[in-house]
Amino acid sequence: MSGPVILLVEDDAAIAVPLGRALQSQGYVVRSAGTAAIALDLSLELPPPDLVLLDLGLPDLDGVAVARHLRERLPQAVIVMLTARGAEVDVVVGLDAGADDYVTKPFRLRELLARVRAHLRRGVVDERAAPTVVAGVVVDPSARRCTANGIEVQLRPREFDLLAELLRRAGEAVSRDDLMTNVWDAHWYGSTKTLDMHVSALRRKLAAAGVDPLVITTLRGFGYRYEAAAS
Ligand code: CA
Repeated sequence: MSGPVILLVEDDAAIAVPLGRALQSQGYVVRSAGTAAIALDLSLELPPPDLVLLDLGLPDLDGVAVARHLRERLPQAVIVMLTARGAEVDVVVGLDAGADDYVTKPFRLRELLARVRAHLRRGVVDERAAPTVVAGVVVDPSARRCTANGIEVQLRPREFDLLAELLRRAGEAVSRDDLMTNVWDAHWYGSTKTLDMHVSALRRKLAAAGVDPLVITTLRGFGYRYEAAAS
């Protein structure tokens, strides 16, 4: 049986070659692309990539545009951007374009591999658990479906896990550490901006289904709380 497929998009061979080798040694099937054009071609090969590592600084096309194209073609894949230090704007725009996470260069190989592992690991939600219902929002772990006011809310895998965790503990203050540990991985090395971006996405998607986005309260310096009795 072959392992998960990773599409590695990086034009700098000094990064791409050792990274590709390291990923292969972990059992991943690696497809490498040095340009956006090749990356878009390879994204259509079967089986579809499970995860994309995407350098934002490519020679032929803007990385954020590539992220957007890849998101359209690969709705289920995890997209992790590789960005230069200080490229905060790119990160925000890229996450908005459909990327799931980012890693800042230069990165430690061990950390990047841990991050990839965390993203590819099976969902952390207990699939035998009964659906949770809070004020019109239903999360059904066995079907991995979410509805709000009867409207299906399309969530990406980690968004679903995050909402399931918040809803399960509705009314409770849940710390950032807890969320990073329970929803992502016990050994998360990266920035937790990823968490905030996922919360923003949840608020936006819930609001589109008529749910007050303030149902998820930000607890500054601590974490988040899903309001048990939203008004
Ligand atoms: Ca580059």
